[in-house]
Amino acid sequence: MSNNTVVIEKSQNETMTAARASRRPLDYQQIALYKDVNPLDWEDWRWQLKNRISAKEELSQIIKLTKEEEEGIKKASGRLSMAITPYWASLIDPEDANCPLRRQAVPVISESVVSPHEMTDPCAEDRDSPAPHLVHRYPDRVLLLATEHCAMYCRHCTRRRLVGDHRESNSPAKFDAAVEYIKSDRKIRDVLISGGDPFILEDEEIENLIKKIRAISHVEFLRIGTRLPVTLPQRITENLANMLKKYSPIWVSIHFNHPKEITKHCKIACEMLADAGVPLGSQTVLLKGINDRPYIMKKLMQELLQVRVRPYYIYQCDPVRGTQHFRTPVAAGINIMEKLRGHTSGYAVPTYVIDGPGGGGKIPVGPNYILSQAKGKYVLRNYKGKIYTYLE
Ligand SMILES: *Cc1c(COP(=O)(O)O)cnc(C)c1O
Ligand code: SF4
Repeated sequence: MSNNTVVIEKSQNETMTAARASRRPLDYQQIALYKDVNPLDWEDWRWQLKNRISAKEELSQIIKLTKEEEEGIKKASGRLSMAITPYWASLIDPEDANCPLRRQAVPVISESVVSPHEMTDPCAEDRDSPAPHLVHRYPDRVLLLATEHCAMYCRHCTRRRLVGDHRESNSPAKFDAAVEYIKSDRKIRDVLISGGDPFILEDEEIENLIKKIRAISHVEFLRIGTRLPVTLPQRITENLANMLKKYSPIWVSIHFNHPKEITKHCKIACEMLADAGVPLGSQTVLLKGINDRPYIMKKLMQELLQVRVRPYYIYQCDPVRGTQHFRTPVAAGINIMEKLRGHTSGYAVPTYVIDGPGGGGKIPVGPNYILSQAKGKYVLRNYKGKIYTYLE
């Protein structure tokens, strides 16, 4: 399907929504602000980007803003700015301030509260940076921050110190030093291109970067982290998919937080990538009031399998400044893992991790299934709590 011929669905299958049916009709043309938009424009990612919502006045034409949101939007300018694609805005419940898509996109005043233990760079990425745009924490792999821009700025973003549209440094970043560093260390066999969102770059820019990394003989594994199939699915074009296919294998990790994000458009985007032979994984941030109930998380994971995305990680929300209102107790995450493992397909069970504050890297946490361990004897419990002994 070409990017220009996506059929506008008059009604979407709403059974996928988890918590409650959205009051928002999923047809954007029913939103006054967008009723005259040409469907071809709507399907054009550049139109979507150009028409992102960044002002209170625009947003208030689509949703009924609360006092907390109005204040939050005012405070957010100059920091992690507000930017919402019309596509995402069309999915927001205009009446419900707790709508999971709304809370991820619309700043609230709580963001300006900095709580104890919160940090600007909780994962100490800047400290582990041997070259500009590069983080080298693990022995055999590096993280390359390809851009500071995203289609939409998530209010829970861990890299809020870096990303945001207020930094208009749109001159293409220079990766020469980063590439030289990767070249110089033969132990690096895995490069993760992230950001910001790498897919916000032009196809040619992405391709140039991929080419440079592919040219390094010891790099055998290349992956890209993105949220665009969720926040701007129109960006996944035939052209992009075909380009990625040329450099196969390239793995793609997609940031998904709620079943409502898996719309018809999102499904098409995932399908195009999967059809191009791109293995897809998911990354999910555990967010209070958004996906911290086991049945919502289970639904998300199961629906990801339906669109050929293999659940990869659930992250405990990092202690980044101004995100207290999103953070759950760790027990909430452990409880979710307890309710997944054994209760549903193993493929639907990701790994729950805490990124060790201060640069510890991802540390898996989860229910304990080993009750006791003595010489040659393990006492285990299964997902139902029944006890079994394994003799070595
Ligand atoms: C998450 C991360 C990686 C990749 O870790 P995997 O567990 O291999 O997915 C690499 N470098 C940094 C700095 C990271 O945060
Ligand atoms: S897409 Fe990722 S990098 Fe961009 S704002 Fe959201 S969480 Fe941050």
